[in-house]
Amino acid sequence: MKRYFALFLLLVTVILQAVNFISPVAGTALITSSFGEFRGSGNRGPHFHMGIDLSTNMRSGVPILAAADGWLVRVEIDDDDIYGNVVVLEHEDTTRTLYAHLSKFSPKIDSLINSVISEFGKKRIVVNFPAKTFFFKAGEAVGYSGQTGEAAQPHCHFEIRNADETFCYDPANFIEIPRPREASFTVKSLVIDSERYTYVEGKTYPFKDPYPKIMLNVATALNKNVIGLKELKMYFNEILVYDINFGEIPIEEFNNVWSVYSNDSISDGYSYNAWYKLYPDRGTSLVKTNKFPELGRLPARVNVKIVCTDMWNDEFVIRFVVERR
Ligand SMILES: [Zn+2]
Repeated sequence: MKRYFALFLLLVTVILQAVNFISPVAGTALITSSFGEFRGSGNRGPHFHMGIDLSTNMRSGVPILAAADGWLVRVEIDDDDIYGNVVVLEHEDTTRTLYAHLSKFSPKIDSLINSVISEFGKKRIVVNFPAKTFFFKAGEAVGYSGQTGEAAQPHCHFEIRNADETFCYDPANFIEIPRPREASFTVKSLVIDSERYTYVEGKTYPFKDPYPKIMLNVATALNKNVIGLKELKMYFNEILVYDINFGEIPIEEFNNVWSVYSNDSISDGYSYNAWYKLYPDRGTSLVKTNKFPELGRLPARVNVKIVCTDMWNDEFVIRFVVERR
């Protein structure tokens, strides 16, 4: 009996995980910003990018599609907020998807939204829908692309959240985003103990006790754009000492960007330049390994290896040596 119950539980788990998400933009989804990127400006202050941005070829009015079958849970209208016009759906596996910067809503809900706007004005409106009122089929338009809120150009901002919207997950782990051939890893510079250097593989750089405070200016270059990484793992003499992973971010850490980015980072909607901080500064759940408190006194020379993983799970390895000065 117990065994059958276990099998039943297993089946339920499999079914719950079986929701397949599709890209909210039809055709080949071209990503223009990745999950967890640094955002430096705007009404809500420096924050993490809690979703991915998909290109609509800078066009408004492109249908933004439900990523899976789901029920409408919320519509937001607020042009002063970062997200502008927003639709949130709830799916069978209890996850929620969010679509932002919309220029228009689906015809199915548009007249209802307009009547709410005419009654309450347009300052900030949040409409929470009763459970299971409006159903959207996977691939059905929830709205149309635009640049409401803080969007430099029309595009689709897409998020995947847990049931109570306390966590955002990297949507790139849920939908298929082909790797463009021109995507390439770029390492611009590194900083050790506040000194800036050009990165040269195998080179020796000085460090001060108790340990080198390393910051890396790295990204994936894509067309004229750069996008952020998924994970950075740092090894001292082949021992993992630090691991920053952007797989999921609690919403309460929305503004906790200085835990993993240095304040040299720039993101103003037109240029992107992120400095990853590879030492503990302030607490964050994004750091999965932190061996610094138990390092003790380091040897005079330390081989540093930093494994950088991009959003397609391709790895690039940075190697250099630090020597106590
Ligand atoms: Zn975005």
